[in-house]
Amino acid sequence: MPVTIAIVGSGPAGYYTAEAAQKQWGDDVQVDIFDRMPVPYGLIRTGVAPDHQSIKGVSRRYEKTALSENIRFVGNVAIGTDIDISKLRELYDAVILATGAPDDRRLGLAGEELHNVFGSAAFVGWYNGHPAFAGLDPDLSVRNAVIIGMGNVALDVARILAKSEAEFAGSDIVGHALDRLKASRVERITILGRRGPHAIAMTPKELGELGQLERARPVVDPADLPPEGSDDALEPGQKKSVTLIRQFAEAEADRKKSDIEIVFDFFASPAEIVGNGKVSGVRIERTAFAGGRLVGTGNFYSIPADLVISCIGYRTAPIEGVPFDDRMGRFDNDEGRISPGLYCVGWARRGPTGTIGTNRPDGYAIIGKIAADLGSGELPKAGKPGRPGFDLFAADTGLDIVTFRDWQRIEQAEEAAARDGSPREKFVDIADMIAARD
Ligand code: NAP
Repeated sequence: MPVTIAIVGSGPAGYYTAEAAQKQWGDDVQVDIFDRMPVPYGLIRTGVAPDHQSIKGVSRRYEKTALSENIRFVGNVAIGTDIDISKLRELYDAVILATGAPDDRRLGLAGEELHNVFGSAAFVGWYNGHPAFAGLDPDLSVRNAVIIGMGNVALDVARILAKSEAEFAGSDIVGHALDRLKASRVERITILGRRGPHAIAMTPKELGELGQLERARPVVDPADLPPEGSDDALEPGQKKSVTLIRQFAEAEADRKKSDIEIVFDFFASPAEIVGNGKVSGVRIERTAFAGGRLVGTGNFYSIPADLVISCIGYRTAPIEGVPFDDRMGRFDNDEGRISPGLYCVGWARRGPTGTIGTNRPDGYAIIGKIAADLGSGELPKAGKPGRPGFDLFAADTGLDIVTFRDWQRIEQAEEAAARDGSPREKFVDIADMIAARD
């Protein structure tokens, strides 16, 4: 009897875990990878920036895994709606939640609900064609955009807002977003960081791209920079990022005219989003370090803002019947084990940190844990029905499953619809995706 495994979520964490299961058990495992979307790859498809095609290329590796006999993609099935977690656990020896962190962390500030204020999950989902956010309708016919947070998602959003049409060549940004961006009138993008340059969560490669834009340039006030010698205490990657920030500040001296300024505002903690129906500004408190702790100084100032995007991290979506750590915004787990037979991996385990590649060791570690649980008697030895059991359930309940072969037809249709130079034009509507498989 093979070990039967259900993985919930077909993003990087899901596919690396499936790959690890194959390495662990060879032909003696059957893995079903569920996704509520009819299309696979999660964050690779709808999170990674559309102008970062080389990162998206990792899906070819997942495709190799997906096409193995004992791995199956089960698309268009939502856990918690189409099938309960308890039923899934009845059917598979181990259930692994690889559901990522698709919900925005909230700022918890007054004004967050104003028109043209978005979280990055929604805004990134919009320009990446996520069906839940395709109808977001951001107003870009405005001059002042404010981005909250100094991580890589903030950089992605700033870069997408700043690029010219020509700079999107070769990307798979969806048509509705490209059209809106072409007509954008944004002139100033302010990125707010509540700490200083040493504390940015931006990595050098991504930060460097900001200095290469055709019609936009980063602006850093040299007065915000810490003494240069203090960079030596930073780990090498962070030091490179800070060096780039220093270069941006130096370029300030020979300021050339550019259409769009991307202004880094350090030691700036948002206090309130201001507006009347629609956002018009952000009220900010200046921060400072006192005794090694970051504190508000009591000095407030306001900047104009007609578009606000908070890029402050994500939360996993709870699933009924699964213990949840509300403070951390992820499943309550002990190094991936929720209880014997139920596990989590990737962002659903550790929160939204690390690169795509971080999910690989995560996937291998969780499979090691399951193998140990099976060996120690913590988990009954393989014997649950797996695939045939699920197929009976699906037939009884009339689920419309999208298979990997179906996805390949959807993918061909997206490739055929691509504008010149673009790899694909994504379907942004679930019904259209499903129709394209036939
Ligand atoms: P992140 O790296 O955790 O950055 C979040 C930023 O938001 C930090 O600057 C943080 O500042 C700030 N922040 C948090 N709460 C705040 C609040 N209440 N008010 C103001 N600022 C607040 O998260 P992310 O940018 O969403 O990225 C998630 C993960 O995906 C990261 O590991 C990232 O590297 C990765 N990613 C990678 C790429 C790439 O490699 N190309 C692209 C996108 C994302 P504090 O530090 O002060 O808390």
